[in-house]
Amino acid sequence: MIPYGRQSIDEADVAAVTAVLRSDFLTQGPVVPRFEESVAGYCGIDHAVAVTSATAALHVACLALGVGPGDMVWTSPNTFVASANCARYCGASVDFVDIDPATLNMSPVLLAEKLETAARNGVVPKVVIPVHFAGTPCDMEAIHALSQQYGFAIIEDASHAIGARYREGFVGDCRYSDITVFSFHPVKIITTAEGGLATTRSAELARRMRLFRSHGISRAIDELESQNEGPWYYEQSCLGYNYRLSELHAALGVSQMRHLEVWIERRHQVRQRYDRAFAQDHEITCLSPERESRSALHLYTVQVDHRRAVFDKMRASGIGVNVHYIPVHLQPDFRKLGFSPGQFPHSERYYERAISLPIYATITDAQVDTVIRELRSAVDSS
Ligand SMILES: *Cc1c(COP(=O)(O)O)cnc(C)c1O
Repeated sequence: MIPYGRQSIDEADVAAVTAVLRSDFLTQGPVVPRFEESVAGYCGIDHAVAVTSATAALHVACLALGVGPGDMVWTSPNTFVASANCARYCGASVDFVDIDPATLNMSPVLLAEKLETAARNGVVPKVVIPVHFAGTPCDMEAIHALSQQYGFAIIEDASHAIGARYREGFVGDCRYSDITVFSFHPVKIITTAEGGLATTRSAELARRMRLFRSHGISRAIDELESQNEGPWYYEQSCLGYNYRLSELHAALGVSQMRHLEVWIERRHQVRQRYDRAFAQDHEITCLSPERESRSALHLYTVQVDHRRAVFDKMRASGIGVNVHYIPVHLQPDFRKLGFSPGQFPHSERYYERAISLPIYATITDAQVDTVIRELRSAVDSS
């Protein structure tokens, strides 16, 4: 089976992790800060907070921005459920903004329309979470302009997009947002097994995210409400969690960062091979080319008719295709909140036709050619 995505681990990664096992610290040592510096340096930003997953990063990001009961958070329906659940963890309500069928990302036009209605009804969102689907940056300039006009904060869900570039900078530099979140799950661009990280330009938001990461507890003298009672003394100043990444996971992350540029270049070669192969196939719709950005190409999705038949044939011939994403509002747990089919038609239409083809750093040209051959044959016979 050729999977749709997989990690790449070399001997240097193994050595980095085993070195931590032989060191003094398995958690709360020097490697997590080193990983944070590595990602922050790459993105060109001052603050990075590593946590146990992107889900945890989205949660502490919402908490740091003050999301709570009575607040509204908007995201894209074409995403993993975690992009929406973070608001619910905080007791806030969730709503969605449909995608642009060309980019598969949140449509800034539909966002503007929905904001206009929301402003009239007095229910403007506190936070909007654009998701860089497949690693391709959203139109952040337009979304940022709307945030200035309507006064909401922005968390970029860049779980797919470490290494992506947008205009003059890297995704994660928060030029157009308050916080950016990355995932290091093994199917993503680089991995720490499980892990996530939030970047921000704001020292205050970083401080709050660190507090929520570790029980709401601080030992920093200038953060204590009462006087320091001794070297053992710490204070819990808010309700936090244990979202700390271990030194083992961080060591894998530091080691994986070495490969990031090369791996993204390889993903672009794979994409080009697919694009060229399917350019003349009118039954296969490929990803649109990016504008003013470089995608990280976490996913390569195509759209076809008779998706179910094509999917089954691909799986039967050993190609581990997948589908991204079931629109979040159609999940039973979201239908319970009142969402129903037909509300976000672009995401629903896309979902009915979507298939994710294998793309990862170590896939070979021969494997890509096998995928191409099998997809053509599956489409022709469906
Ligand atoms: C993978 C993913 C997440 C969750 O990441 P974890 O690190 O597994 O918690 C969130 N949002 C999107 C868009 C994702 O693809």
